[in-house]
Amino acid sequence: MSNHTKEIAQFVEKIASKNPHETEFLQAVEEVAETIIPFIADKPKYKDSNLLETMCEPERVFMFRVPWLNDKGEVQVNRGYRIQMNSAIGPYKGGLRFHPSVNLSILKFLAFEQTFKNSLTTLPMGGGKGGSDFNPKGKSDNEVMKFCQSFMTELSKYIGQFTDVPAGDIGVGGREIGYMFGQYKRVQGEFTGVLTGKGLQYGGSLIRPEATGYGCVYFSKEVLNHINDGLDGKSAIVSGSGNVAQFTVEKLIQNGAKVLSMSDSGGTVYDKDGITQEKLEFIKELKNVKRGRIKEYADKYKAEFHEGKTPWDIKCDIAYPCATQNELQVEDAKTLQKNGCIGVFEGANMPCTADAIEVFKEHKMMFTPGKASNAGGVATSGLEMSQNSLRLSWTRDEVDERLQGIMKEIHRNCVQHGKVTKDYVDYVKGANIAGFVKVADAMLAQGCV
Ligand code: NAP
Repeated sequence: MSNHTKEIAQFVEKIASKNPHETEFLQAVEEVAETIIPFIADKPKYKDSNLLETMCEPERVFMFRVPWLNDKGEVQVNRGYRIQMNSAIGPYKGGLRFHPSVNLSILKFLAFEQTFKNSLTTLPMGGGKGGSDFNPKGKSDNEVMKFCQSFMTELSKYIGQFTDVPAGDIGVGGREIGYMFGQYKRVQGEFTGVLTGKGLQYGGSLIRPEATGYGCVYFSKEVLNHINDGLDGKSAIVSGSGNVAQFTVEKLIQNGAKVLSMSDSGGTVYDKDGITQEKLEFIKELKNVKRGRIKEYADKYKAEFHEGKTPWDIKCDIAYPCATQNELQVEDAKTLQKNGCIGVFEGANMPCTADAIEVFKEHKMMFTPGKASNAGGVATSGLEMSQNSLRLSWTRDEVDERLQGIMKEIHRNCVQHGKVTKDYVDYVKGANIAGFVKVADAMLAQGCV
C-alpha cells in the first residue's frame, strides 16, 4: 500500500480541488481510492482509462426548490436533490433521505458508495441518491404529505422505472414512499414500479422493510462462519432505532444473540437483560407509529438511559452501527477493542470514521463496510423491481431465500478480493475491488460516455 501513498494523495487532492468543502464525499472517495489505486496499478486497461476519476463525477445532479404550505397556511421552502451517479450497469438506484443535515456532500458520498454497493448485489442497478433538508420530525401527517407531493412534482421529471428508481433512507419510510408514489402516479398518469419500498397493496415486496437489517445479520453470520464462529450467545450492541436497527435487532434475537442497546439522536438505552422480541415490538410501535423517543423504552422497562450518548462504551462481543455516518469515532473504536469486541458490522452507511477503521484493522478485528453488509436493502429493492416487471409477487420465503443467497454471494466476492490470511479478510478492500471491477468493465465496454 505504501508504494502508492503519493499517488493516492494526489488523486484525492485533485478530487478535493473540484469539490471543496464536500467532506463526507471526499472521505468516501479516499476510502475507495486507497484500495482501488493499488489494485489498478498493474492493470493498464483500468488505469489508462481514468475510470476512478470518471466514477467520482456524477453523471448528473438535480437541485431544486420544494415549496409547501404548513398547517398554518405558511409557505415553507426546502431544497431537493437527486444525484444520478453512475448508470453503467443499470438504471440509477438509491434511496431518498429527509433530514435537516442533508446537503450535496452527504448525498454525493451516499451515491458514490451506492454505485459500488449495487454492483456487489449481483443485480443490474446503477448508483443514485437523493433527498431533502426537510425534517419530518414534529410535522403532522398532512404536512409530510404536502411536502412529499411538492418534492415529487419536481422529482418526477427526472425519474422512471427504466431510468432512476428511488427508495427510502433516513426519514423516508412507508408513509413517505406512499405519498410520493401517489403523486408520481398522478402527475405522470402511469402505475409503474418507479419507487421501491412500496406498500404490499400497491406493488411492494415482502421482506423489503426487513431486508437491510436482516441482510446485515446474514452477512455478519457469514463473516463469523468463515472463522468457524457464530452468533449464538454473543452479546451485541446496536445503534439507532429506525428501520435498519429494528430489523438488525430482530434477526440477532432470532439467531440467539443478546442485544444490549439501541439508540436515537437523544441517547442510548442499555438493557442488561437483553432486548426481547416483545420489547422490540414496543420500539417498533414507538418509532414507526407514535414517532416517540427511545428514552420511553428506558422508562417502561427500567433500563439505563445514557442521555446524549452513543452505545460504544457498553461491553459487547459484536457491534452494529445502524444510525448515521461518522457516528463511531476513533476513541469509540479503541473502547470497543479494549472491551473485547471482536467484530463491527456496518448497518448504516459510513458510520465508522477512517481512523476508527484503522483501529479495527490494526487489531485484526472483523470489520465490514456498509457497502457490503447493508446491501441487502437495495438488493431486495432490486427484487421488488423484478416482481413489478413480472407483475407478480413472490412469497416471503422466496424473497428471504434470495436475500440470503445474495448476502452469501457478496461475502464470497469480498473474500475472493480481500483475503489476507486464512483467517483474516480485509472486507473494505474486498468490497471495493469486487464492486469496482463490474462497473469498470461495463464502463469500458460502453466507451467514453
Ligand atoms: P431511519 O429509519 O430514519 O432511522 C435512523 C435512525 O438513526 C434513528 O434512530 C435516528 O434517530 C438515528 N439518527 C439519524 N441521524 C442521526 C444523527 N445525526 N445522530 C444520531 N442519531 C441519528 O433510517 P434507516 O433507514 O434506518 O437508516 C439508517 C442508516 O442505514 C443510514 O445510514 C442509511 O443510509 C442506512 N441504510 C438504510 C437502508 C434502508 O433500507 N433503509 C439501506 C442501506 C443503508 P432519531 O429518530 O432521533 O433521528
